[in-house]
Amino acid sequence: MKTIDDYIKESISYRKILNKIRRDDNVREVYEKYPDLAKIDEEIIASRKDVMIRILRKENRSENEFEREDKLLLKREDFIREHGIDSNFDSPCVTCNLCKDIGYVLNEKGSKRVCSCMNQEYEECVLASGMQDYESIRLEGYSKSKSSSRIREAVKKEICDLLAAEASDRATSICIYSDYASSGKTYLAICLCKLAIMTCRSAYYCKAESLGNFSDDGYYGMMDSCKNCDMLIVDDFSSDVAKLFKTASALSELLEIRNMKGALTILVTREPVSELRDDIDYRIEGKLRSARVLGDIK
Ligand SMILES: [Zn+2]
Repeated sequence: MKTIDDYIKESISYRKILNKIRRDDNVREVYEKYPDLAKIDEEIIASRKDVMIRILRKENRSENEFEREDKLLLKREDFIREHGIDSNFDSPCVTCNLCKDIGYVLNEKGSKRVCSCMNQEYEECVLASGMQDYESIRLEGYSKSKSSSRIREAVKKEICDLLAAEASDRATSICIYSDYASSGKTYLAICLCKLAIMTCRSAYYCKAESLGNFSDDGYYGMMDSCKNCDMLIVDDFSSDVAKLFKTASALSELLEIRNMKGALTILVTREPVSELRDDIDYRIEGKLRSARVLGDIK
């Protein structure tokens, strides 16, 4: 699957090419206007070449050579100052001052976050991570619409903690998030999936039912993402959906693979956990018995 890292890397390599062209244009423009500066720079380069050849021949650098380069550098400095030329005209160009074209910024705790200059790449990654129907759910809107739901807040905190932990530190990587219908489960799931991508993890969102739709276009691409992402959210999970033969097979395989890797899988359901566990397909039952129940604040 294509992760946010892949999107950023692609974009950064293209940006580097553009920055190199910009820098070369700047230099050419200044040299055309001030040919004497171009000559000084040529002399500096020639002097450095001589030194390199000497080093390769294992010959010592003479005092005259040191002096020659120092004099040329001083001459260059004076020329630039006298003609009011920008002293950074030949420095590498940077498009984003926030991340210095790395694509990420670090917070005070040292955690990575996608830089704002990579918003387009982030949006593309979100759309390719199963959230194409949820463009309107924005991370910025979460705090404003925060409900008084204690369960939802507890789940949010738990998932953030689990995401931050190393796979090997998690007692179990399969989690169940159960709450009433229309309690905002999907909204929270989408926000957390987007947050995971914003903090440079790979995450994927799908509906449980879609796991059984083998004939759908892009099914195998989706399954590949479901198997390999750092965090998978399976929404609308229920014992009924899990009774469908193909869905149960796909789910069983997914949970097996992801559990072995310690990759976080969150099953979102409106069914009470006890009912779910009692009425589930035998291939999944064992994995649900040992799953962690999120938001268990009663
Ligand atoms: Zn940036």
